[in-house]
Amino acid sequence: MVKETQTIGKQNNRGAVPWHAMTDDEVLSSLGVDDGGLTEDEAARRTEKYGPNKLAEKKQAGPLKRLFRQFQNVLIYVLLAAAVFTALLGQWVDTAVIVAVVIINAIIGFVQEGKAEKAMEAIRGMLSPKATALREGGQRELPAEELVPGDIVLLGSGDRVPADMRIIFSRNAQADEAMLTGESEPVDKRVDPVDEDAPICDRENMAFSGTVLTSGRLRGVVTATGEHAEIGRISEMVSKVEDITTPLVRKMDRFGRGLSVFIVLLSAVIFVIGYFLRGFGFTEMVMAVVSLAVAAIPQGLPAIMTVTLALGVQRMARRNAIIRRLPAVETLGSVTVICTDKTGTLTRNEMTVVKIAVADRMYSVSGIGYTPEGQITVEGDEKSKISLEEHPWITELARTGLLASEARLREDNGSWTIDGMPTEGSIVVLARKAGMTRTDEQEKRPRLDLLPFESDRRYMATLNKDPDAGPILCVKGAPERVLDMCTRQRSKQGDTPIDRNAWIERQEKLAGTGHRVLALATRPMNGTESIQEQDITDLTLLGLVGIIDPPREEAVDAIKTCRKAGIRVKMVTGDHALTARSIGDSMGIGDGEHVLTGKDLEQMDQEEMVRQVNQHDIFARSSPEHKLRMIEALQSKEQIVAMTGDGVNDAPALKRADVGVSMGIKGSEAAKEASEMVLADDNFATIERAVEEGRTIYDNLVKVILFVLPTNGAEALMIISAVIVLFEVMPITPLQILWVNMVTAVTLAVSLAFEPPQAWIMRRPPRPPGEPIISPYLFWRIIFVAVLIATSSILLFNYMRAAGASLEAARTVAVNTLVAGQMFYLFNSRFIEQSSLNLQRLLANKKALVSVVVLAALQFAFTYLAPMQQLFGTASISIFEWGWCIAAGAGVFLIVETEKAIKRGMRT
Ligand code: ADP
Ligand code: MG
Repeated sequence: MVKETQTIGKQNNRGAVPWHAMTDDEVLSSLGVDDGGLTEDEAARRTEKYGPNKLAEKKQAGPLKRLFRQFQNVLIYVLLAAAVFTALLGQWVDTAVIVAVVIINAIIGFVQEGKAEKAMEAIRGMLSPKATALREGGQRELPAEELVPGDIVLLGSGDRVPADMRIIFSRNAQADEAMLTGESEPVDKRVDPVDEDAPICDRENMAFSGTVLTSGRLRGVVTATGEHAEIGRISEMVSKVEDITTPLVRKMDRFGRGLSVFIVLLSAVIFVIGYFLRGFGFTEMVMAVVSLAVAAIPQGLPAIMTVTLALGVQRMARRNAIIRRLPAVETLGSVTVICTDKTGTLTRNEMTVVKIAVADRMYSVSGIGYTPEGQITVEGDEKSKISLEEHPWITELARTGLLASEARLREDNGSWTIDGMPTEGSIVVLARKAGMTRTDEQEKRPRLDLLPFESDRRYMATLNKDPDAGPILCVKGAPERVLDMCTRQRSKQGDTPIDRNAWIERQEKLAGTGHRVLALATRPMNGTESIQEQDITDLTLLGLVGIIDPPREEAVDAIKTCRKAGIRVKMVTGDHALTARSIGDSMGIGDGEHVLTGKDLEQMDQEEMVRQVNQHDIFARSSPEHKLRMIEALQSKEQIVAMTGDGVNDAPALKRADVGVSMGIKGSEAAKEASEMVLADDNFATIERAVEEGRTIYDNLVKVILFVLPTNGAEALMIISAVIVLFEVMPITPLQILWVNMVTAVTLAVSLAFEPPQAWIMRRPPRPPGEPIISPYLFWRIIFVAVLIATSSILLFNYMRAAGASLEAARTVAVNTLVAGQMFYLFNSRFIEQSSLNLQRLLANKKALVSVVVLAALQFAFTYLAPMQQLFGTASISIFEWGWCIAAGAGVFLIVETEKAIKRGMRT
């Protein structure tokens, strides 16, 4: 099967005739491969020789560089300056602690970033492309990375070309090569050799890695892989590495940086007041100002938000929704309309032919699914199996359908599956029930040519060579389309002129009861070996088949959930209006009344169209172009639209939609690349879950902000008030502030990233896009809580001093009160407005509980361990004093809950 491999390839062999100037046979032989493809052994050898078929990825920043990046922010500069300063003063303990904090901070940031990075990496891996190649004489689907020169690859419309290939078969193939040549129109692809000097854009017999097949299909033999392909010369990577960020996170990042600058300025003012007006010592004031900066700059916030985002996206991926562009996570929470395909998304895409209509009667077919066991009976008399000899038209109809299909039926230890389109699969199964297999039939009537199915065309045709009749045309497709091409019908009396109205009635009867209907027609085609579209006329209609495709039960539930969540679900299908309505009825989409068709839309003026599209929920016989117009009509009414799509023609609509959703299983590569999100299971329910996760992630980001800002604020307030008015001594030292910030950042705040979705998340309307993340109410909450926690801590500090406690003990109580306040407030923050006073809710986030326990242990160590006491200037305190700290924390909790309750009361 394979020649010596050493001779292969221009990859390392200059001067030879280029691939595009050779005939296809020459190409095959010089690549050492025949029609059956490579053997696995040979492919393995070539992989060894040429390496995997992938481009070198853009180098990611190495770990050292990433660690170094952690040191680049205002807070670190402030801290480093403070370290230098304390060192100059000879306060070595302070210097050591500050340096330790800087390092620990960097490590925390580094680890969190790494975690987020890894989560995203795994998700990118889920999207790696596949290719269909011939190996060992059969078709195999394999990762595109495993292709080697000499592999024969099969491509259909929408596929991305996985390597440079010399085309050896082309059927109406056109490719979009804009990325390589800049040419925006698709170019024809054919087999004939071209001139040796032809520039890339004229090499019509080559398909280049990275370009997209926009229509037709082709077969090519791989000539160059990986970096050796043309694309390798212009770019070093395809999978672009995206930053982990969304508009919201970027906004907070900017906010944080602005805040940092403000705080540095504020610190200067505080310094002036403290040193000149209140007579604090110079060193003391420098340290106070440093601690103010440490306390108030929310430097951990962006990292925690990134982790929240990455964890959320990972949860989505686990539930089969793969996010390709991160901003979509936020948009998902605002979606108001989901426009979804019917077949395979709302339905199971497990098609079965259950009815056959011929000119003078109806038949029923039993047996569900792809197992070819079932009987064909006359409708109304389902007891007695018909004899195919007495009903020869059934055999002819099923055979025509079989020849005009591409799907294959396969048995794997007892279970039957389909390779190819389920619609076709159902017909192959029907043929099998009538005693025919593809292998036998195709052998008797080999295929001469094929016009593939395209959703715009809605039919397909093949030309087969019949041993008796010569070439015969086999056509299958949507009844309206096929009927228009028929002049006769097959009946008991032989061929008679077609009775159009009778057929339309039959179709409507089937479609009205939820069947997907296909018409089958045929005609002898003497004197030709290929199909021209204009020759498909004057056909004889053999009959109709009615196919059922059961709804996905989980989709029915998901639609209900969407409705409660204020999201409207619209169905957009290429199927017949009556079929669409019937499925819509059983799934709860539409008002059961009106269905708009693509034709209807075309006949309306713009204003009317916008109105109707917004009003109605079922759109039948619509093409990808209609989808685009629908999206525009919806968006003109301020709707946020999620739209599904699978074909290459859907790409513009997917791009235009606010959230383009493509199908992981049946979707083309082009559709996936145009989309924001890929459904790994093609299932509508997954979209609904993604919306739920999207809302959850957004909520959790808000919660993180709502927790971090007031706790930082409280610390800052303590210092500011101490300096400006209250005390002769600081209630809390800089090192203690550093400690509090560090331990609460690694414990409390991060646990909010794990906050589970809340029950009511899908019972409220979508979030208006552009809504500020911190509403006036939340702004109030931030200030209110900051004041509350700071006040309780200062009050207890004063109480301790008044009771004659040492400064160390008073400060220890102040710190522990601060920490207790934050701990309790964490549980307030887990629910933005809803009550936290509910045991079940309080226990729902295990990470939060664990973080509290860990933090408590740290605080005990901080209070009682001798080295800690020395380092941080703390002192042991009594159980009684602990009681005060905890009571203060509980007080914060209860007051915030009361405030929430008042707010809720105000709304109702
Ligand atoms: P949808 O996926 O929205 O249900 P399609 O675009 O797949 O719709 O199909 C539209 C119509 O085209 C179907 O109603 C059917 O009549 C016809 N059709 C679908 N698949 C095939 C096929 N493989 N061969 C011929 N006709 C088909
Ligand atoms: Mg379809």
